[in-house]
Amino acid sequence: MALPGGAVAAWSDRSAGDLRPRPTGDLPGVADASALARFAGGAGVPPGARPVVWLRQVHGAGVVTVPPGRDPSGSEGDALVAPAGSAVVLAVLTADCGSVALSGDDGSFAAVHVGWRGLTAGVVDRAVDALVAGGASRVAAALGPCVHPSCYPFSPGDLDVVARLFGPVVRGRSADGGPALDLPAAVAAALARSGAVLANGVDRCTACSGRDFSHRARRDGGRQALVVWAGGAER
Ligand SMILES: [Zn+2]
Repeated sequence: MALPGGAVAAWSDRSAGDLRPRPTGDLPGVADASALARFAGGAGVPPGARPVVWLRQVHGAGVVTVPPGRDPSGSEGDALVAPAGSAVVLAVLTADCGSVALSGDDGSFAAVHVGWRGLTAGVVDRAVDALVAGGASRVAAALGPCVHPSCYPFSPGDLDVVARLFGPVVRGRSADGGPALDLPAAVAAALARSGAVLANGVDRCTACSGRDFSHRARRDGGRQALVVWAGGAER
C-alpha cells in the first residue's frame, strides 16, 4: 500500500514462509536474507531497489539510520530510517508485535518493530523524530497485523505502566474478560503524540487470524515481515 508522502509498505503472512534472515554457517555475522528479498520482489519493490536492510531486534528503542552506500543489516535496533533518496528496502520481522511503516513528505521513510517494551521505551517517538530531524514536516504512518486485545491478556501492573504513558485507551479486555493490552490503540496513541498521522494499515490479529505467525498463540518460530521502500512515482 502507498502511504501519503510516497513510501510503499507491504506485510507478509505465513503463506510467504518464515522470512527471518538465517545464519549461513560460512562466516560469523553473515546471514542469508534471500527469503526476505524474494518477498520484497514479489511485493512490487522495483528491481533497482536494494539492499533489503534488517536489524537484530531487541524490543528496545534503538533507531538505525541507513548510511549512504553501507548496509547496516544485523545491527542491533528496532527502527530503521532511510533518508530521502534512498533506494534501500527496510524490513522488520514480527510474530505478534506491531510493525509500523512511516513515510515522510520529504521522501524519507522508516520501518519500526514495536511491542509493548519498545513502545514504553519510546521507539515510535524516536523513529518519527528521526524523520522530522531529517527534514520531514509531515509523517504518515500505517500499522500492520499484530496481536489484538482479545488475544493479549496482560498483567495489571504492566498495563498501568503503559496506560500512564499513553492513556486509558490502551486498556482492553481479553476474550475471557480479563485485563488486556490494546496494542493497536497504544501504537496509535504513540503516533498521535509524536505528531504522525495514522493512515489505514492492516487491521488483523496475528494470534487468531490463522494467516499469521503467532508466538503467543502457538509459539511459532517463524516471522512475517513488513517491508517499506520509496515509491517514486507516487510522490
Ligand atoms: Zn486475536
